[in-house]
Amino acid sequence: MQPAGAILHQEAIDRVAGNLSALQDRVRRAAERAGRSQETVTIVAVCKTFPSEAVAAAHAAGVRHFGENRVQEAEEKIPALTGLAPRPTWHMVGHLQTNKVKDAVALFDVIQSVDSVRLGEAIARRAGDRRVPVLLEVNVAGERSKFGLSPEAVGGVAEALRALPNLDVAGLMTVAPLAEDPEAVRPVFRRLRELRDALSLRELSMGMTDDFEIAIEEGATIVRIGRAIFGERPVTAG
Ligand SMILES: *Cc1c(COP(=O)(O)O)cnc(C)c1O
Repeated sequence: MQPAGAILHQEAIDRVAGNLSALQDRVRRAAERAGRSQETVTIVAVCKTFPSEAVAAAHAAGVRHFGENRVQEAEEKIPALTGLAPRPTWHMVGHLQTNKVKDAVALFDVIQSVDSVRLGEAIARRAGDRRVPVLLEVNVAGERSKFGLSPEAVGGVAEALRALPNLDVAGLMTVAPLAEDPEAVRPVFRRLRELRDALSLRELSMGMTDDFEIAIEEGATIVRIGRAIFGERPVTAG
């Protein structure tokens, strides 16, 4: 196999690098508004629906964290990118079924979408000698269409999973409701931060292309960004 770098088009690298630099500027300004430094916010580039060439371009521009939302797509993409150096960190950000846990643990470094004790236990069983960092996904707004724990349930699940030596329960994650005005979702982010603080966890994964600045103002330590780095996805994409 050719190293991914060899097949990159300069034009693609330049476009992604330009997007990334504009994004980093906005991240820095939002962090400053919250009295924080840019380094306290990790950008995870969510590359679902985009080809491995786009991932390689983002890596060449300096991105070191990538996210996928489906195990099957990750199985096609991640093994084609093993040549990237330094090796990036891969985050699973989508709903994970128990029967895909074995594959997910083999592919991903971090699983951001743990939404039950059962799923956490399954990850721990497959962890081998690793201690897998996980985030608990919270459905803060109680949307029927979304996965995630209710705010009331997250404390009990955190307690149960913290007892497992092969898991590092690192923090909380949420996908905020779609809103025309990102200000409308500020209370959702604030609530997730309060839940995180009450559980004394480190990480707060919240904020996507349309609302990451508000999320950073409310304390996000991880933002998950697709379109602002890679461009628009085809409309059929999940
Ligand atoms: C697609 C996706 C993102 C990124 O969304 P954009 O709007 O493209 O930034 C973030 N988190 C999850 C869970 C996703 O599925």
